[in-house]
Amino acid sequence: MSEYNLVIGLEVHSELNTATKCFCRCKNEFGSEPNTHCCPVCTGMPGALPILNKEAVKKAITMGLAVGCKINNHSVFERKNYYYPDLPKAYQISQLEYPLCVGGHIDIVVNGQAKTIRLNRIHLEEDAGKLIHDHEGTLVDYNRGGVPLIEIVSEPDMNSAEEAVAYLEKLRSTLLYVGVSNCKMQEGNIRFDVNISVNKPGDPLGTRTEIKNLNSFRAVQRAINYEAQRQIDVLDDGGVIIQETRRWDDALGKTFSMRTKEDSQDYRYFPDPDILAIEIDEKFVEQVRLSLPKLADQRAIDYKQMGLSIQDAELLTSQRMYSDYFDEVLSCFNDPKFVCNWITSEVFKRLNVDESDVIDIPVAPNNMAKLLKMYKDGEINQAAARQVLDELWKNDSDPASIVDAKGLRQLNDVSAMEEIMKKIIEENPKAVAELKAGNSKTMAFFVGQAMKASQGKANPKIINEIVNRLIK
Ligand code: ADP
Ligand code: MG
Ligand code: ZN
Repeated sequence: MSEYNLVIGLEVHSELNTATKCFCRCKNEFGSEPNTHCCPVCTGMPGALPILNKEAVKKAITMGLAVGCKINNHSVFERKNYYYPDLPKAYQISQLEYPLCVGGHIDIVVNGQAKTIRLNRIHLEEDAGKLIHDHEGTLVDYNRGGVPLIEIVSEPDMNSAEEAVAYLEKLRSTLLYVGVSNCKMQEGNIRFDVNISVNKPGDPLGTRTEIKNLNSFRAVQRAINYEAQRQIDVLDDGGVIIQETRRWDDALGKTFSMRTKEDSQDYRYFPDPDILAIEIDEKFVEQVRLSLPKLADQRAIDYKQMGLSIQDAELLTSQRMYSDYFDEVLSCFNDPKFVCNWITSEVFKRLNVDESDVIDIPVAPNNMAKLLKMYKDGEINQAAARQVLDELWKNDSDPASIVDAKGLRQLNDVSAMEEIMKKIIEENPKAVAELKAGNSKTMAFFVGQAMKASQGKANPKIINEIVNRLIK
């Protein structure tokens, strides 16, 4: 494998979260009864006329600006003709010659190495319906037909599965920052086509294959590694790679040939005579630019200025949801490092951040801030803070009342604790001798005993002080 380069270019389809579809007023909504959000336009009835949804154009431009694209002032919808039952018009409204956005880039970091992945274009198109196959046959749901999509096309700038996944993570995170797509993988909001080729260093790019419609990062990673090795095996056996479209079988962990790759001529693209070209003036573009939220890179710079490490700043900004949450907790309890440590450990652990979909944090930021303040002020110890967080996670409420109801307030009364410690010392002469002999591990024994005697409420810092003072 090592004598070959791996070359990857990605095409990402992302549904825009507009209220209505791209060319009609049907609702853009996932999960409704099949075929309830349909009309003559999106089911392709003869004579029905499409009207472009301005919100879709605005959202596409928003994403374009967030990744540094140039916005074309003149852009055109074309008909991409093919026959398939998920497409009642027998053509998809898409863009070819004059896309909405061109250029731009996504910056990634893999193994500490920064890299810029260039974008080729972002264009606007409509989604097709959804085929549902079951044992009786195939059903079709046209609710998704006509939903606006952006297709984000990269240059072939990635050279490993890790880079491809880092690119997709950053891309999805950016879509969520600007809020133009819900990016729910299970709902098929975001789908990936992977183009792969291999070549030897110094040689021109190899022939590529395209694996269509992957819908998880893990599938992308596995498909790339499988397909690269398959191509290398073919070449090493003296064979040639055929430019084709392949299908990934997740259960078998293999790709299979679907059809030889079609090129744009096969689709007989032509400008859609029913839809006017989109003319966008600079004023509109500037208006959209001004409405962009603060993005991950800028937020990370701000966090570093607050004293957070680069790693922490990157963790917190990896999803807008984390960063917004962090900011909101800070607005109630301004201790960046303390809050960051807690979020990136205790909160992330409970979120299971490895899962590819982003889950909401079920605790209101002001409750989280109250909890952290009690912990920081020594009103509760770490074990109690974790216990309260578990409770809040199940049933969000005021942390102070949980602390009281469960009697978790930390024992900070030095003289009361001295009484407890004196008794423990008296009963454990052996441990006392060990500590005197310099066995520092024995301290843990005394802390443990004190916790037991105080139902876990003793302040470990105070116990340490008392033990050191009493045993000299
Ligand atoms: P098409 O229009 O046929 O889909 P494009 O030229 O638009 O083809 O490229 C589609 C995708 O394939 C892009 O993401 C591009 O980066 C990628 N790509 C092009 N050539 C190669 C190659 N030799 N190896 C890997 N990816 C490639
Ligand atoms: Mg393509
Ligand atoms: Zn419709």
